[in-house]
Amino acid sequence: MFRQAKQSDIPNPEPQTLSMLPQWLIDRLQPLYPDARDRLIAFFEDCHKAGLYFYPLKDPVRTWLAQDSLYAIGRTTELTRKRVTDAKGGESWHNYNVAIDGAFDADLTRDGVQWDWDTHKYKWSDVAEIAKKHGLTWGGSFDANKKVALGDLGHYHISYGLTIHEAQEIYKLGGLAAVWREFDKKRGI
Ligand SMILES: [Zn+2]
Repeated sequence: MFRQAKQSDIPNPEPQTLSMLPQWLIDRLQPLYPDARDRLIAFFEDCHKAGLYFYPLKDPVRTWLAQDSLYAIGRTTELTRKRVTDAKGGESWHNYNVAIDGAFDADLTRDGVQWDWDTHKYKWSDVAEIAKKHGLTWGGSFDANKKVALGDLGHYHISYGLTIHEAQEIYKLGGLAAVWREFDKKRGI
């Protein structure tokens, strides 16, 4: 005797336990503050599910010294290059392991990511909408009418209510561990 399958008889494909993200992406996010890492993994997964092939660039984490070197480009070193950041050491959320910079993959058929920052070709503001759901702050804004990028379009961070100045002061007293403890505190842990 056959009967029609009821809803409850159909195996539920959710929840998906296997990540659709490549392992190198997960590995790249490992040095981040754990809650920020988990949010970013979920964010990248949602992006990819929505067909937005956005990936984190190399080195989401920067020391204060590395940040100072970046700040110097186009100012006191490598004078022919354009300035790459307005943040000195301690003034960027990358210095506290809670930020990433990302860009799109221009060719999914090729191995690796063909990094592309084209502001017309990709839906940067759709990525930002997904980020908002994960509590992430966008570094850019986008003028849809003029189709121009304003600010740092590929940057996302989470600061748990801390200002960059507060983070700097805490870091000077107790280093990165102290800043992370403060993030914990702000999260009620
Ligand atoms: Zn950034």
